[in-house]
Amino acid sequence: MKEQAAYSIPILGLVEGVHEYRFEINADFFKAYEDSRLSEGDVIVDLTLEKRTSHIDMEFSVSGKAKVSCDRCLEDFDLPLDFSEHLLLKYSEEEKEDFEVVYIRRDRDSFNVSQYLYEFIHLAIPLVTTHDMADMDCDPEMLAILEANEFDQEELDENSSNSAWSALKDIKLD
Ligand SMILES: [Zn+2]
Repeated sequence: MKEQAAYSIPILGLVEGVHEYRFEINADFFKAYEDSRLSEGDVIVDLTLEKRTSHIDMEFSVSGKAKVSCDRCLEDFDLPLDFSEHLLLKYSEEEKEDFEVVYIRRDRDSFNVSQYLYEFIHLAIPLVTTHDMADMDCDPEMLAILEANEFDQEELDENSSNSAWSALKDIKLD
C-alpha cells in the first residue's frame, strides 16, 4: 500500500462530529504509483468525515478530469469524473479490511486515504474509453489513417494465407 503524506488525516485528536477536508489530485499523485493507468489528471476530492464513538464515516465527493487515451482514435482526451464514494472505519481490537469496512484500533493516530483515492479513481474509469464519453469527437484524421491501416492489414493477411496455400500446393506427393 502506497501512502502519501499529504493525504493523511489525524483521526486520534479529532473531536466527535463532522469535519471537512479537501484533497487535490494531479500528475504528482499518479507518479507515486508504478502501475497507475493514469498519469495526468486534475481532480478535487471533498471529504466529509463524521467521527462517532464507535466508527468514522467518510463520504468522498470526487470531481474533475483524468487524461485517458481513446480506444477508437488512440488520441488522449480528458475524461470527466464526477462520483462519490463511501468508506466506513470501525474501531476494533484487530486491524483488518473488509469489502467496504476498514477496522482500525482505537489508538490509531492517523488514517491515510491516498491508496483509497487511487483505487476509487481507477475504478471509476471504464475499461474502454472513447471521446464520446467526454462529449467530444474523435480525431477524423487519425480515424482515416487507422481505417486505411486496417484495410492494409486485411489485404496482408489474405496474401499471406494465399502464399501459404500455394506453398502447400507446390508440395509434391509422390
Ligand atoms: Zn477518439
